[in-house]
Amino acid sequence: MQFENNLEFAQKLDQKDPLHQMRNEFHIPQQSDGNDEIYLCGNSLGLQPKRTEKYLNYELSQWQKYAVKGHFSGDFPWMPYHEFLSQGFANLVGANTKEVVAMNSLTANLHFMMVSFYRPTPTRHKILIEDHAFPSDHYAVESQIKYHGFDPQESMLLIKPREGEEAIRPEDILKLIEQEGESIALIMLPGVQYYTGQVFDMAAITQAGQDKGCYVGFDLAHAAGNIPMKLHDWNVDFACWCSYKYLNSGPGSVAGCFVHQKHHKNKDLPRFAGWWGHNQSTRFKMENTFDPMESTEAWQLSNPPILSLAAIRASLDTIEQAGGISELAKKSKTLTDYLRFLLTEELGDDIKILTPTEDGAYGCQLSLTVDTHGLDGKTVFERIEAAGVTGDWRYPNVIRIAPVPLYNTFEDCYRFVHILKQSLQQ
Ligand SMILES: *Cc1c(COP(=O)(O)O)cnc(C)c1O
Repeated sequence: MQFENNLEFAQKLDQKDPLHQMRNEFHIPQQSDGNDEIYLCGNSLGLQPKRTEKYLNYELSQWQKYAVKGHFSGDFPWMPYHEFLSQGFANLVGANTKEVVAMNSLTANLHFMMVSFYRPTPTRHKILIEDHAFPSDHYAVESQIKYHGFDPQESMLLIKPREGEEAIRPEDILKLIEQEGESIALIMLPGVQYYTGQVFDMAAITQAGQDKGCYVGFDLAHAAGNIPMKLHDWNVDFACWCSYKYLNSGPGSVAGCFVHQKHHKNKDLPRFAGWWGHNQSTRFKMENTFDPMESTEAWQLSNPPILSLAAIRASLDTIEQAGGISELAKKSKTLTDYLRFLLTEELGDDIKILTPTEDGAYGCQLSLTVDTHGLDGKTVFERIEAAGVTGDWRYPNVIRIAPVPLYNTFEDCYRFVHILKQSLQQ
């Protein structure tokens, strides 16, 4: 599409946008002057869908009216509540409904997945992650390695971008797997890198890793609700994601987990078990022989927090109303491309975009460094915030900007770029 750098053009794109009405399904934070904030931070905390309040209130009233009987009464009984989220999660990550479950939090799920899929031996003991992994992932991996009595210095294999580059070249990942694969027990990479916004080629990484006998899992914190995926077809072993970023389910809301169907019947796979993973039909006999469900539900430990699951259900219904992840991805590409076009037109060399440009190598987010004009990035960031933009600042000098197709507009992108330009003046 031929883009134009003017407000009328941005507004015209909004008028033509089939998802434009979806913005009305969300609470948009207000500035002190009553105008909408330019909220470009949905990669950190997604906005609240309007229906969330209704879904939560429904569960509060079920609890008021029925108390313990709420487990079996009403339209959404608590006992099987996580099942009401399965189709929505399955659609987002490209799985069947038995392969996904809502449980725990993201980092907790990474640990539980490593309990099952990190089985180090003296010859195959490494975990491949990226050098710039989200700290929580780094700590989780490091502590798992130590827990098994190995030395992170030797067992943690960190992949870095080439000198002077920001994104990791896809061929470098495959080459490292080819070279080191025999000693790698587990490959755990992001679907979308949180800092640069780079999308990893999950299909190719999975294939390359499994060809070498490694398990392959992904952290989808920045991928779920951002890009379409096909975890089942790609034969990914496991994946975990949180639900409060692009999935708009509220701060700290329950996370998602995928385990490929091929592992469901394997009773030898070690796991840390809890009663909610026990066969549903006999769970309440309260017997001592653990009989795992033949699905990813087998990894559940506890009965889940229903209020949080209700917020996820509200979010998944909102995404469904928009036509699902494929519709979101279509708009997302145009929206992000438009943002990149405006940044390049208006700011040229004053700003560097770390996010790759190749088709399929980026989603909703552009990561910018602004260390020009003798201003440091943090000062610029404070100025844009004061002007009504909510973005995300990452030490040492990156501003992450995420135009989210569910509720952001082309006009948001236009206004943001002009505010940023102003903020770069001395
Ligand atoms: C957001 C994010 C987390 C956060 O972990 P929690 O357990 O949900 O607090 C972890 N890893 C990545 C890659 C993230 O983007």
